[in-house]
Amino acid sequence: MKLAYVFVEHPIHHLDHTFTYCADGYTLTRGMRVQVPFGSKTIVGFVEKVEDISDEEVRRFPYTLKPIISQIDQFPLLNEELYELGNWMAQRYIAPKISCFQCMLPSKLKPSSTHGSIRMEAWVRICKQNDTKLTAKQQSAYEDLQKEKEMLRSVFYEKWKIPGKKLIALGLVEVFEKEKKAILENIEKNKEEEFILQEDQKKVIAQVEQEKHHRVFLLHGVTGSGKTEVFLRLASKEIEKGKQVLLLVPEISLTPQMVKRVKQRFGAHVAIYHSGLNAQEKYEQYQLVKEHKVQIVVGTRSAVFMPFDRLGLIVMDEEHDTSYKQDSTPRYHCRDIAIYRGKYHDAKVLLASATPSLESYARAHKGVYALLQMPHRINGNFPSVRIVEMRKSVAKGESYLLSDALLDAIYDRLQKKEQVILLLNRRGYTPILRCISCGYVQMCPHCDVAMSYHKEEKVLKCHTCGYSMNVPTHCPNCHEASWRYLGLGTQKLEEFVQIKFPDARILRMDADTTTRKHAHENLLKSFDEGHADILLGTQMIAKGLDIEKVTLVGIVNGDALLNRSDYRSAEMTYDLLEQASGRSGRGEYKGEVIIQAYDPNHYAIQCAAHHDYLSFFQQEMQYRHLTGYPPYRYLVSMVFSSKNNQDVQQSVEAAMRILSKKENCKILGPAQLHKIRDEERCRILLKGKDEQLLIHYVKDVYDKHLQTKQKARLDIDLSPYML
Ligand code: ADP
Ligand code: ZN
Repeated sequence: MKLAYVFVEHPIHHLDHTFTYCADGYTLTRGMRVQVPFGSKTIVGFVEKVEDISDEEVRRFPYTLKPIISQIDQFPLLNEELYELGNWMAQRYIAPKISCFQCMLPSKLKPSSTHGSIRMEAWVRICKQNDTKLTAKQQSAYEDLQKEKEMLRSVFYEKWKIPGKKLIALGLVEVFEKEKKAILENIEKNKEEEFILQEDQKKVIAQVEQEKHHRVFLLHGVTGSGKTEVFLRLASKEIEKGKQVLLLVPEISLTPQMVKRVKQRFGAHVAIYHSGLNAQEKYEQYQLVKEHKVQIVVGTRSAVFMPFDRLGLIVMDEEHDTSYKQDSTPRYHCRDIAIYRGKYHDAKVLLASATPSLESYARAHKGVYALLQMPHRINGNFPSVRIVEMRKSVAKGESYLLSDALLDAIYDRLQKKEQVILLLNRRGYTPILRCISCGYVQMCPHCDVAMSYHKEEKVLKCHTCGYSMNVPTHCPNCHEASWRYLGLGTQKLEEFVQIKFPDARILRMDADTTTRKHAHENLLKSFDEGHADILLGTQMIAKGLDIEKVTLVGIVNGDALLNRSDYRSAEMTYDLLEQASGRSGRGEYKGEVIIQAYDPNHYAIQCAAHHDYLSFFQQEMQYRHLTGYPPYRYLVSMVFSSKNNQDVQQSVEAAMRILSKKENCKILGPAQLHKIRDEERCRILLKGKDEQLLIHYVKDVYDKHLQTKQKARLDIDLSPYML
């Protein structure tokens, strides 16, 4: 009998072993999908291995083997490289294998219990030689189709609806179905956009070109130094050699300019892959790569799994961006995967940023990555930065929202018809509702999180789970009606700015104004075209924007991030300030940046004001060294969660029993229980010098957790972001 070992998706995702089925009559290999019976259901799984066993062995099997129901693929969906990558991810991130395979595929191809169907399209072709008398029109339609061999039925009908239908009725033409494919846009290549390269650009390109084999480069190039042009030149060389190129960006909707430039340079041969596409669109882009219809892919995190088979170059723009990390199992980092694939294909990997992550820069510093530098702006000038000490200005009676200095600067720009960006660093700084007689804060009933007040709709919303409620008339604690709104949100800021500048046209960009599809692009386009004077928003406006007329960036609460109890808060502050100030003065006009801060002497703020990444790096490394945080130590987090807090407690205790015996690592936690979406959560952090050892320890906890059939869920996160 032929046996197939199959990975299946199961709601209890604890099950990380294969299930065995009888595969008699099927020709299967690793990486193909099959339908199998599971309990009373039929589900889809992935073949891991096929094996022949003797009748004797079949008889000794502890249970009767059920046969496979059907075979879905004729060819393996994942090639050897991707299959091995899945195994590697499962080990490294301690995640179920099936989840690793799933995250590599567009949802239409996922071997899941709810698998989507692929859209088909009707085509027509000639199926019988013509031996009857046709009308002139029918004859022309017939000949047209004969020339083309086959045509999309819709295209055929556009021209020949009535004669076409008649030909089908006569049995001369038949309709058949084919998978729906992406139609490649017919874009004219635009060579004129190519610039004469600057010295910095030439040098960097030469350094990368010199290397003939896999190597990881870190390009530290200030904002506006012309990195994109470097990517395009390098890409074009690889494509000439017949290689494929992957260009990773943090968020497509925030980088419409990048997509436009790539398309202008490479014409139609570009696939775009990001989370804003629907399932069918994703599938179509995926097929373009698989069938070698395109040589270059521009995409976000998940594009790193595209089915390339001859990669020459992977570029990861804004490599420090946190959206490169997946925030559900498997919690992979796109950079890890890019480097893995680069090695496999002997391809070059170029990480680029104006504010590289500390880990990457430390590696480049040690020579693990090759460090490349572009310290000059193309237009020659950096924006000047002014820091406003808020403690002083508020004491003088100025507004705590916008200081006089910033108000004056805005006024000046409005007079000159230039544009302004105002950034409100809202994370950890949302407007909350507090009772002033007893101090009660309205919390989300489902999460241990304070509700945020949304003025336009006059409701309270939970930013963690989305729950919304009306403002209670009286405080539920002391029954007084004395609510006060604390903190500062984008809506309140907008209102304030509008009062100060009644004629100014203001655009607001935050999570509330960008829920609809294409909302991002539309807002940015509108600002770019000059339909507004002031763009006001949260961190999402700090990224990638290149708008000529912006000459002032005001950062309303520059140090809000510093108050967080996250070891990365200084790094995040530096990134945000440097990236945001990079939006100012990109054109011919000189730019200015004003940072309002309560703690103006903090090195993150001072270094950003001087555009001095290296000093920031050195001071921050010292701090990390002293406190024992990455990149000097590694971290792994284990989060136990369940609706029932006893389940959580039991699992945490079991984990602590195992971990307390381990050496060469430090246990941080268990932290207090914390409720999110009605689930109790508890985290244990493991810290140590040896990453492999930590993974090994956590795997131990994970295996025992599964073996003892613990009820709580266990989520593992290697190098977690939020602490
Ligand atoms: P970065 O990605 O480093 O922030 P960009 O690639 O967006 O910078 O380049 C900044 C600006 O300079 C863009 O408007 C770009 O068109 C322009 N640019 C890039 N390279 C050159 C060059 N060699 N000569 C003239 N302009 C250039
Ligand atoms: Zn909530």
